[in-house]
Amino acid sequence: MEVAIYPNPVLKTKAKPIEEINNEICQIAEEMLETMYNACGIGLAAPQVGLSIRLIVLDVTGEKTGERVFINPYISEEEGETLEEEGCLSFPDVMGKIIRSQRVKVITYNLKGEKLEIEAEGLLGRAWQHEIDHLNGCLFIEKMTPASTIANQSKLKELELAYQNNKAGVN
Ligand SMILES: [Zn+2]
Repeated sequence: MEVAIYPNPVLKTKAKPIEEINNEICQIAEEMLETMYNACGIGLAAPQVGLSIRLIVLDVTGEKTGERVFINPYISEEEGETLEEEGCLSFPDVMGKIIRSQRVKVITYNLKGEKLEIEAEGLLGRAWQHEIDHLNGCLFIEKMTPASTIANQSKLKELELAYQNNKAGVN
């Protein structure tokens, strides 16, 4: 799978809920995990591989074990505030500081269709918020501090130009 790079419009599209966990979904999840590990990412949302469905893969430890595929996740509770730097596989070489909730509670389904309630904080809590934002078409550049927004302006312009040229078949 190829990672969709900003400003690909799929990244701004609100993803649709998954109605049925079938073989196709399992296959997509497996390929997304592979894509995430190849890119050295800790999380990846389906819109980032061009699929507008509510599926994310997440593995902040990189240990390739445990529950890592999540269907139709949403944040049910959040509290506190924390300011940290983050990046995104759809934005090569862009890093910025973002205020996120300190702690979140997520309701989601796993690949077996079991409902899970997950509490997360720190890096994992931040990753959940970042990936669920992707399902809603919300990008991390929209939440950056003013200083980070300014610092990344020229890099974003470069990505926009590269995307236009690529679409026009110019290399
Ligand atoms: Zn991202």
